Amino acid sequence: MGKPTGFLEYERENSVSVSPKERIKNFKEFHTPLSREEQRTQAARCMDCGVPFCQAGMTIAGATSGCPLNNLIPEWNDLLYKGNWEQAYDRLHKTNNFPEFTSRVCPALCEAACTCGLNGNPVSVKENENSIIENAYEKGFAAPKIPKVRTDKKVAIIGSGPSGLAAADTLNQRGHNVTVFERSDRIGGLLMYGIPNMKLEKEVIDRKVQVMKTEGVQFVVNANVGKDIKASKILADYDRVILACGASNPRDIKAPGREAEGIYFAVDFLKSTTKALLDNGLKDGTYISAKDKRVMVIGGGDTGNDCVGTAIRHGAKSVMQVEMMPKLPECRAESNPWPQWPRVLKTDYGQEEAIAVFGSDPRVYETTVKEFIKDKSGKLTKVKLVKLEAKRNQETGRLAMEEIPGSEYTVDCDMVLIAAGFLGSESYVTKAFGVEVDGRTNVATEKDKYNTNIENVFVAGDMHRGQSLVVWAIREGRQAAKAVDFSLMGYTNIR
Ligand SMILES: Cc1cc2nc3c(=O)[nH]c(=O)nc-3n(C[C@H](O)[C@H](O)[C@H](O)COP(=O)(O)OP(=O)(O)OC[C@H]3O[C@@H](n4cnc5c(N)ncnc54)[C@H](O)[C@@H]3O)c2cc1C
Ligand code: SF4
Repeated sequence: MGKPTGFLEYERENSVSVSPKERIKNFKEFHTPLSREEQRTQAARCMDCGVPFCQAGMTIAGATSGCPLNNLIPEWNDLLYKGNWEQAYDRLHKTNNFPEFTSRVCPALCEAACTCGLNGNPVSVKENENSIIENAYEKGFAAPKIPKVRTDKKVAIIGSGPSGLAAADTLNQRGHNVTVFERSDRIGGLLMYGIPNMKLEKEVIDRKVQVMKTEGVQFVVNANVGKDIKASKILADYDRVILACGASNPRDIKAPGREAEGIYFAVDFLKSTTKALLDNGLKDGTYISAKDKRVMVIGGGDTGNDCVGTAIRHGAKSVMQVEMMPKLPECRAESNPWPQWPRVLKTDYGQEEAIAVFGSDPRVYETTVKEFIKDKSGKLTKVKLVKLEAKRNQETGRLAMEEIPGSEYTVDCDMVLIAAGFLGSESYVTKAFGVEVDGRTNVATEKDKYNTNIENVFVAGDMHRGQSLVVWAIREGRQAAKAVDFSLMGYTNIR
């Protein structure tokens, strides 16, 4: 433990956010980190708990508590406090290939489980992590490390999201020859073309991809495996294949009028903004624009929030966010004690910005869409909504949201963004490789295994566990790499 009395002496301090009205003027990240010295003081708050819940990554009451990567958090907090920056980076990098991503976009399951959070504010694990990795780049600790020994084994990874990248990095460092195939024009999966720039600036991805290229990983973009490149060719050319194609099949809203012009899936909307931002600084009008539109986002989750923040940056006239479920409480309910994941109301950056710009929280709860209404030219003009209430099914005992008769109302709207989650993998890839899928169209494996029913074909990330988080994708990529290494070498020293 860095400082035994640290948690008594120091209050939690966070990075400073640019005010909502100021930050919506651009698409940049908007947190100004604490100084390195201030961050070391924050690390002194860690108590080096006998049972460090922060790094447990276990399932309690159906949700993950603590870090799924089992990051060695108390150890690097101690090293950070003592100013051993290089060792802190080594410790962090042992379990996490990409702290530069998680320290920006992770919901910090570690902090929700931190013992300090039981009676006060948790340790600022995520910002401590960010200072360690950014300092490592500045000081050269995160510079390319070219593997000293190469095997003659070739591995193809299909998809360059965090799971594919984690598998590629791990297998390359082990000495195998890795090629990543990506159908898009840029590397990164949803890190690149899902999560908006203000949460993760894309230079951060390019910086790491450049390191991986120097270390020997090969990247092929605009390569759609199963369409432009045959699965049989990949299977013939490589010793092993890891499918890491994500769960990119969006859930639709099947209401009358769905074909109206002006209804988009969230990821198409977000991707078009990021692509135009990177290609031409949003100058040539090639993106789906919400400017002067009355926008309705369907889905109250994180993707919906990203749509709210992006639409506001475009200059939307109004933004409303529709959520089926009831509003969560401000504080933990008695039935949801620490260290369970807190099921409490979160007002994220996009919602904060909507409050600042329009004067109220954009979310309406216990509501769903009944009908999309269009004009004669087919353009969306209104949406009919209906209120819902939670009712317990007498037979199953489960709560279900049911429509309240007569509660329909109509709102003016010219753009709908559907952020209602994802259904699973896309069938052209799974069919091309002949891999079995489960009832949710995730690629089927035995529990905690990564090999599919097809010899030499493995799976990782959202394509395996369904729509999830970056931190889980990294874990999946590492575990799939371990399974591949074992199958190639007959043993493995990957942890
Ligand atoms: C809008 C949005 C915001 C999110 N925000 C967060 C967040 O803040 N924090 C967080 O932890 N998680 C977030 N998530 C979830 C997180 O991004 C995903 O869980 C994670 O990216 C999954 O990683 P993956 O590698 O499995 O797949 P993906 O990131 O989906 O990457 C799959 C890649 O495979 C490529 N591909 C697919 N098929 C083929 C093919 N046939 N040939 C070649 N390439 C192919 C795709 O183009 C894509 O690049 C967000 C998700 C969305 C949609
Ligand atoms: S639970 Fe919190 S205080 Fe305890 S070791 Fe982890 S970060 Fe430190």
